Amino acid sequence: MSEPRAYVEVDLRAIASNIKLVASLSDAQILAVVKADAYGHGLIDVAETAVEAGAQWLGTALLEEALALRAAGLKVPVMAWLTPPGDDFDEALRKNIDLSVSSLALLEEILAASERTGIKPRIHIEVDTGMTRGGFLEEWDPFLIRINEVKDHLHIVGFWTHFARADEPDSDFTEQQLILFNVLLNALQGQGIYPEIVHAANSAGALAHKGSHKQMVRLGIAMYGLSPDISAMGPSEKLGLIPAMSIKAKLVNVKSVPALSRVGYGGVGVTDRDTKLGIVCMGYSDGLPRRADSTAGVSYQGELARLVGRVSMDQCVVDLGPDSTALAGEYVTVIGEDGFSADDWAQAAGTINYEITTRIATRLPRIYHR
Ligand SMILES: *Cc1c(COP(=O)(O)O)cnc(C)c1O
Repeated sequence: MSEPRAYVEVDLRAIASNIKLVASLSDAQILAVVKADAYGHGLIDVAETAVEAGAQWLGTALLEEALALRAAGLKVPVMAWLTPPGDDFDEALRKNIDLSVSSLALLEEILAASERTGIKPRIHIEVDTGMTRGGFLEEWDPFLIRINEVKDHLHIVGFWTHFARADEPDSDFTEQQLILFNVLLNALQGQGIYPEIVHAANSAGALAHKGSHKQMVRLGIAMYGLSPDISAMGPSEKLGLIPAMSIKAKLVNVKSVPALSRVGYGGVGVTDRDTKLGIVCMGYSDGLPRRADSTAGVSYQGELARLVGRVSMDQCVVDLGPDSTALAGEYVTVIGEDGFSADDWAQAAGTINYEITTRIATRLPRIYHR
């Protein structure tokens, strides 16, 4: 087989280490969030690693992601929280997927699926405590009446909410969300309903708000070794996290050009010296952000080579420096320890590390280190 022109390396040992770090902070169970192909790292390999490292739960946004975990033979509890009306809830129940209930319409669809299949649904009630996105808000009072009518037909496993600003250490918004969360939980308990697993914390909550752990932490970005917010919480290293993803791509060509050469579409990149340019086999169709500026780039043997001009669809151009010994056919590091990080790429493109890793295209093979 020919060598890949670009590939993603995933260090599963880093993922295990990051999970153990967060698990050591409290007695809360860990739900490993593996939505979006495990933030671009690869759904099944990451899920298996997370379970081996001690995560008791797996969590996905979509039902199809949860079903893929079951199809791969994973037996731990799996929760899917973004299931629009019309999803195949019969199949969800047959495959023992925990479902989030965030609206009356969804509750009725799940009850109907239960009637058809004869299976008692395992549900987690989601309340909207300040994110103003998922969960019960204005339907809460009618929901309390309805859930009281149907509670015997359900296994009410969880009660949960999601934080909007847990990465902001100076904000008391998370504490306010937790206060409302408790009020709503009390109202539910007033109906004689006591969910076993109350959960709220994402990575930022887990790392910065110990009081938010409750019975379970839904761990996403930190499991992949990245900081939820580098400006507010500091980079990975400061948090004791090890980034799991690195990316290598081949140089398709190396060419010497004079100073003031205009590079790429629109000619917006201009060389500031006589130099050697590296043409890298990775572009925006592979997930590199087109709008990244020259604060990002690649590294070759530990030397940084910055982007020149716009990222193209399948390639980009970097300034290797006049004395570079890099050759066509060699690999450079696009993301990795000896070069630029996902955070560097995020800053260069005005986005966040989450968006960088989740957008790395599936056409790049993933290579796993165990
Ligand atoms: C994505 C997600 C998480 C994980 O968030 P991180 O910031 O990556 O830790 C937790 N809970 C829900 C509901 C999510 O959608």
